[in-house]
Amino acid sequence: MRREALKDLLTQARGCVRCPELAATRKTVVFGAGNADAELMFVGEAPGASEDEQGLPFVGRAGKLLEKLLVEVGMSRSDVFVANVLKCRPPGNRDPLPIEIENCREYLLGQVELIQPTVICALGNFSTKLLRNDPTGITRLHGQPEVIVLGRRAVRLYPIFHPAAALYTPRMLETLREDFARLPDLLALGAPEQPPAQPAPEMPESPEMSEPPQAEPDQPAAQADDPVAHVQRSAEADQLGLF
Ligand code: URA
Repeated sequence: MRREALKDLLTQARGCVRCPELAATRKTVVFGAGNADAELMFVGEAPGASEDEQGLPFVGRAGKLLEKLLVEVGMSRSDVFVANVLKCRPPGNRDPLPIEIENCREYLLGQVELIQPTVICALGNFSTKLLRNDPTGITRLHGQPEVIVLGRRAVRLYPIFHPAAALYTPRMLETLREDFARLPDLLALGAPEQPPAQPAPEMPESPEMSEPPQAEPDQPAAQADDPVAHVQRSAEADQLGLF
């Protein structure tokens, strides 16, 4: 059920043309990948060139570092879900524009709503500012968990430096490692107290988001380039695909 809903959202994202420049220049929509039942979700900035090629998040050098840090705290990519603020690569790896962040916000919130993680680890400035709805930067906030309400759910937000920033700065890498080391304890706290149940918020009028999924009825559920299908086909993809 959760996987089916995520696949529907993936289908919608794949057809998204809300950001005309990104839609025209992307090779793939990098929806996100990992464990649909994850307690821990990472939110990065935007796909880079490797991610755009492969259609999967954090597969370049920053992704390798993320994986290494996860292993150091006894976890692997198959335990977590990894997504980004933007699902499409900004040309030349430029910073995401405010309008692009706004356009893509609904997909990220949809992912959070479906996956229901206990902890969201915001990687760097863009995801921290978006999820906190506040301009305070990562340098002031890293390593300090706080409970925030996203949609109808309270989650533990944990901002940390972006692994790409730590690649070339040993001191930042050390800080990132120290912040990572607190993740197991944070997860052990479990879900924060939830706000009282409320009626489902009305979805804004939006043709792409309200259209039903466009899969042909006689097609198999998972397409050849679908992260869900990846994991069913290969052990290597187990590390990356959605399941
Ligand atoms: N950096 C990000 O923020 N996201 C990716 O997917 C890859 C690199």
